[in-house]
Amino acid sequence: MRTLIRNGNVVSGSGVERKDILIDGERILKIADAIGEGADQVIDADGKYVFPGFIDAHTHLGLHVGGTVTSDNWATGTAAALAGGTTMVIDFGTQYHGETLKEGLANWHAMATADGPCSADYSFHMSISEWNDSVRDEVDDMIAEGISTFKIYMTYPAMMLGDGEIYEVLKKLKEAGSFTGCHCENAGVIDALIAEQKAAGNLGPAAHPASRPPEMEAEAVHRLLAIAKEADSPVMVVHTTNELALNEIKAARAAGQEVYCETCPQYLFLDKSMYEKPGFEGARYVCAPPLRTKHDQEVLWEAIRTGVVDTVMTDHCDFNLAQRDLGREDFTKIPGGLPGIETRVNLIFSEGVGKGRISPECACRVMAENPARLYGLYPRKGVLAEGSDADIVIIDPEREMTVSSADWVTNCDNTPYEGMRLKGTVEKVFLRGTLAVDDGRLIHRGLGRFVRRALPDYKHTEFED
Ligand code: MN
Repeated sequence: MRTLIRNGNVVSGSGVERKDILIDGERILKIADAIGEGADQVIDADGKYVFPGFIDAHTHLGLHVGGTVTSDNWATGTAAALAGGTTMVIDFGTQYHGETLKEGLANWHAMATADGPCSADYSFHMSISEWNDSVRDEVDDMIAEGISTFKIYMTYPAMMLGDGEIYEVLKKLKEAGSFTGCHCENAGVIDALIAEQKAAGNLGPAAHPASRPPEMEAEAVHRLLAIAKEADSPVMVVHTTNELALNEIKAARAAGQEVYCETCPQYLFLDKSMYEKPGFEGARYVCAPPLRTKHDQEVLWEAIRTGVVDTVMTDHCDFNLAQRDLGREDFTKIPGGLPGIETRVNLIFSEGVGKGRISPECACRVMAENPARLYGLYPRKGVLAEGSDADIVIIDPEREMTVSSADWVTNCDNTPYEGMRLKGTVEKVFLRGTLAVDDGRLIHRGLGRFVRRALPDYKHTEFED
């Protein structure tokens, strides 16, 4: 089966060029100014943008949290991803206490196909929640299994490592040619602030941001980067939310450290006033770190535009409204996380590229090319090139949609972006050569495969278009 996409504005991380693309089977066979060869299917992309399939390297599908489980499992979550232009997800396989990394990985492999086949390609990072000599020895086994990057936490009792353990993890990963992402928040002070809020009788959602201030995120970023400097290791700060934390990253880079920075759409579009909504409505915005200020949103957009931020991923971790009721009497029991897997690309294109905040090339870097390089997928994914997987997203800059969870593929019954009017949205998506989304509608499910990843091949670089 051959498909020819003609006259599109083909986007890479460094430019936009009008080209034809010929797909043969699952791969891109040819890219040229004008391709005369015949094809079984010809698509005219005149006036449209043609992007490499977008990658979401921060998702939590089927995750059990606080006595409940995310509303999207792997079958619905990867279908929602694909519908929204994301052709590959990297979730967090997790070694819980008492488990080996191999047991954690086997659990995630089983979970990924338990509810039916995936609809987007997928992989896992491995979250390390317990560190000792045998876990250290398993790092190389994970890499051999195609799990080439890791995740650690500085908060959450079930997950967090101490500073000495973080140092040892970073040293080992440096030696292995890998790196880890890290959730940066100061666990001890947050616990004390939570106790203060509870003692004062503040049990509603507004106590959530009050107990997780930006200073305690920035402190943890600073500490992580000091440890990484001592270990002489690159490291990724995931879900960066605010100016103070960004300043820590900038300072470490100015001193010569290799630091990667991720942010998420919720920190670009939502702010902490959402927690002040009447009644229990603020609960639907609970995530950690919490939403910050409008000023932080503008600082983050600028950091994306200038390349200070390497990736924009979702931290998709969704719950139905009724599930939030677990925390009606106690804000710390509200299951935390926000949906985003189906909306990210449309939001960033419409509000970022469409409104002139960032260029199409920048959108390509932060959602496709950079994650592909960081996570060992390049040039198979993250770029439109001859020989690459034919994961292709066509965005029509004139196409409009209203965000509505009712129309969605996801199993989540709510979105913080409900009712937003977007212009410049996903029209077609190819997953390895198969047209899976047409006219914005998912038409082909179940083609997703596990992808073994190579080691990272990335150097932080800052751009301005
Ligand atoms: Mn997360």
